[in-house]
Amino acid sequence: MDFLQDSSPGGSLFSPSTTTITNTITPRHLNDFLDFADVSDSDDMATTGSAVPTNDKDKLDPEVLKDLERHQGFMRQAIEVAEEALAGGETPVACVLVLDGEVVARGMNDTNRSLNGTRHAEFLAIAQFLSKFPITRLKETDLYVTVEPCIMCASALRQYGIRCVYYGCGNDRFGGNGSVLAVHSDKGLEEGYPSYGGIFRKDAIMLLRRFYIQENENAPNPRAKGNRELKPVV
Ligand SMILES: [Zn+2]
Repeated sequence: MDFLQDSSPGGSLFSPSTTTITNTITPRHLNDFLDFADVSDSDDMATTGSAVPTNDKDKLDPEVLKDLERHQGFMRQAIEVAEEALAGGETPVACVLVLDGEVVARGMNDTNRSLNGTRHAEFLAIAQFLSKFPITRLKETDLYVTVEPCIMCASALRQYGIRCVYYGCGNDRFGGNGSVLAVHSDKGLEEGYPSYGGIFRKDAIMLLRRFYIQENENAPNPRAKGNRELKPVV
């Protein structure tokens, strides 16, 4: 699993490299991750001019639009968990697992507190799920996550046999559901899973931006990189 290896100094957490895996996340890694929130203006979903975080209905897959309220309801719960993460000083990425129409597990990013770069929201939610249900029930379970799963999580989700993934904003740096690699649908030993993005995308981006601004203000040597004011337009 090359993508788990650390290519420091200066590399990204998920870059292929020849060095050994580490379980720490350095400030440099943190900044790499946060950068993607900072550059989201340039992603594939154009600026709408709206200052109010909302849904881009025209960008959503018809499959999602069929039952939009239901999907928004579950994504709203993931966003609320991400708000908790932000309040606790953690990168605001979070998810919920839905089985038989109910949220049965939650997870938030825990890499900063634990200094363990593998403690992503999806892993924590799956661990919680497996403490209550047999692994086979993941095949009947959907994931709602505020940010597109990274390559590591996308692969784990596939191996676990998740039924479907819904996410908020894309992850241009590490995304494993199509942004960098399409781990969910590429040929592989395990069956792939469908993945739909864009549900409360702007809210997900704004959470990351709020964290980014907060971190930059708290940093002993703030990075000199352009405008750090919160941009409400995404
Ligand atoms: Zn991940």
